[in-house]
Amino acid sequence: MTDWVRETLHRDYAQALRVEKMLYDSKTEHQRLKVFENGTFGRVLTLDDVVQTTEGDNFIYHEMMTHVPILAHGAAKRVLIIGGGDGGMAREVLRHKSVEHVTMVEIDAGVVDFSKRYLPMLSQGAFDDTRLTLVIDDGAAFMRATQDKFDVIIVDSTDPIGPGEVLFTDTFYGHAKRALTPSGILVTQNGVPFMQGDELTNTMRAFKALFADWRCYLATIPTYAGGPMAFGWGTDGDAGAVSVEVLADRFAAAGIETAYYTPEVHKGAFALPGYVKRLMP
Ligand code: SAM
Repeated sequence: MTDWVRETLHRDYAQALRVEKMLYDSKTEHQRLKVFENGTFGRVLTLDDVVQTTEGDNFIYHEMMTHVPILAHGAAKRVLIIGGGDGGMAREVLRHKSVEHVTMVEIDAGVVDFSKRYLPMLSQGAFDDTRLTLVIDDGAAFMRATQDKFDVIIVDSTDPIGPGEVLFTDTFYGHAKRALTPSGILVTQNGVPFMQGDELTNTMRAFKALFADWRCYLATIPTYAGGPMAFGWGTDGDAGAVSVEVLADRFAAAGIETAYYTPEVHKGAFALPGYVKRLMP
């Protein structure tokens, strides 16, 4: 009999991924973790039966959450990642030689350990980079306490259920803003608006109260089912107005090879269809 992992994120809609080989299935201190092999997507990581990342399509998500804020900023040296336990986000941030230091705050040491072992193609050595400091802690507690300032903060969280819930609160966003440099940029994963519209509206309402430039941008990631995913964008700087020509120069200077990100996609990602615009507060 063929085994399938059925995702249980939405009440009325489910996606299932065929399990060619289950590599790991166990409970960590915080959540149930599975790593399995799938014919189309390669290795798949699920937490509490919600797809977190896959070998096959993670490049879209990770490239769009890193290169968009870092290249728009233009001089990011200190980057903070909240969550990100699989190491894919750190991998893309560290591709920027201009980034001097990355702090990554992940609540679940189990995700990091198993990702290093079963998904090394995601981190590609990022955990061994001397510019990375890994902190095992609740991202909300870290954000409340930190006195450091960051040029870019990336919230690579699970959905707002379980341990990830605190990363979607107004209090957390307020603390994140305090931890940004004056022209710093906060980006957040905000789910798939067609399926999780409230999630985006709530985050945008909080951003509207905090930032001069608040909006969201989109990218379609096949295993985050239901249409394009939204990423929150908040800054008091002018990085949102950067031209495609300037982005192209910065992208060329960075010498990074990407499979999804291009300066044109970067600019185009901020164009919103009507149903997403209507979710803006
Ligand atoms: N992009 C994926 C998605 O939306 O399906 C999520 C990626 S996964 C790397 C998210 C990570 O956030 C997990 O490793 C999880 O353990 C971590 N996480 C959840 N709640 C957290 C919290 N409060 N503080 C820090 N990390 C947290």
